Amino acid sequence: MAEVKCPECGGTISSSTEQDLVNKFRQHAKEHHGMEVSEEQVKHMMQKQNK
Ligand SMILES: [Zn+2]
Repeated sequence: MAEVKCPECGGTISSSTEQDLVNKFRQHAKEHHGMEVSEEQVKHMMQKQNK
């Protein structure tokens, strides 16, 4: 189980795989916040939050 917290709305997006989570978060950011995030950015965020 992988999850990442959206820095814009504080919501948690979770998925069973890291790759799917990256896709889900990118879609969330685009749909809800009009943000384009790269795969690298999402992975970096996940690492920072995964302490
Ligand atoms: Zn959000």
